[in-house]
Amino acid sequence: MDSSNPKDDLFKSIEKKDFEGVKKLLEKYPKLDLNCADKDELSPLQHACHSGELQIAKLLIKCGADVNFTCRKDGYTALMFAAISNKQDIVRLLLENNVDSSVENCVNRTASQMAAFIGLFKIVHIINSWIPYEKSVQPFTRCRELEDEPRIPNENLGRLLHEYIVLPSLHPIRYMLHIRDNLQLIRFSSRFIYVLETLSSKCSKPPTIEETLSLKYYYLAHILNHCLKQYEEKFRPQKSIETDFEETACFQLVDSNIRKMIRRSNPSDLQPATPQINRFILDCAMKFPYTHLGIFKTTTFAMNKEASEHYQIFTQSLNGPHMFGRASEGCSICTEVDKCKKCSKCKNVYYCSRTCQLVDWFQHKKVCKSPEEQPLLKNTDENEIDDEA
Ligand SMILES: [Zn+2]
Ligand SMILES: [Zn+2]
Repeated sequence: MDSSNPKDDLFKSIEKKDFEGVKKLLEKYPKLDLNCADKDELSPLQHACHSGELQIAKLLIKCGADVNFTCRKDGYTALMFAAISNKQDIVRLLLENNVDSSVENCVNRTASQMAAFIGLFKIVHIINSWIPYEKSVQPFTRCRELEDEPRIPNENLGRLLHEYIVLPSLHPIRYMLHIRDNLQLIRFSSRFIYVLETLSSKCSKPPTIEETLSLKYYYLAHILNHCLKQYEEKFRPQKSIETDFEETACFQLVDSNIRKMIRRSNPSDLQPATPQINRFILDCAMKFPYTHLGIFKTTTFAMNKEASEHYQIFTQSLNGPHMFGRASEGCSICTEVDKCKKCSKCKNVYYCSRTCQLVDWFQHKKVCKSPEEQPLLKNTDENEIDDEA
């Protein structure tokens, strides 16, 4: 490309989704101002976010594109474009780069409100449940008063905990599956539980009471505590669990615990939550120590009234009533409603992912009626909408 204007070339390359072209241009013109717009008032980053070009968006941010930049009359930001076009990975990228999600467009709507308006609840949840690393975990990676060493001894463990905090689901099984795949969360759980409980306590007190966040941190600590206790009961570590960690056996323990939690007395029953999960959630809510908070009273009151819907009540407490998904079409394991596919064999049950389908197979196979082989989801691209669904 040798048009006289490198900016025009940049916009053309982005439009063509030509990552290599964009990269070459940015190498050739390192001082190119990326906070600019084309004739449609769109910046290079806004273009990339709108069309879902993750790699290009990453590169633009790395080269100095301001994630909050906009010069549009309608006030649309990169986050709004990514949100309304349902680009979840780009929304997360922008959040990781400290985008301001409270910015409003010209009719006073935030990106999350715009997504809610068109029914993209997954996006709403990703934005609303985001907690920046700097405001949560990072302070604990530094030595605090009267401490010889920081609670979180290195950045890797800090990032591991942060990833757990911002998982885009609230379902206990999703957390446990995540823990099963990241067993260091159990190995260092006493440190993590301390951090989560400290954050929960901080959010429960003035000057800045944040009730939902307080309950969420407590819930995250509760799940880790549950896993830690089971581990300790089973292995009774001689030394500390950190130095004496039984990784393979721990994996099996978490895995079998997940099965216990999702086991249905009647496998053809398709209720989104088993009694065990409802009990687990109720137990967490009842143990929440900050009983002066309104969220404690409303949540436990509703749970005591409605004996079988503790998980739904809990998610409504944390996310607001609009997050109440269509349970009938949600994943039968984790209630996720986004990108669900039917079991290709019996077509009776939905799963959000192969992980959820596999974990349910030990009991679903008893009622999955069809003479064919084991019905795994057809291999589909995560981002593609499956025609089976
Ligand atoms: Zn699922
Ligand atoms: Zn089936």
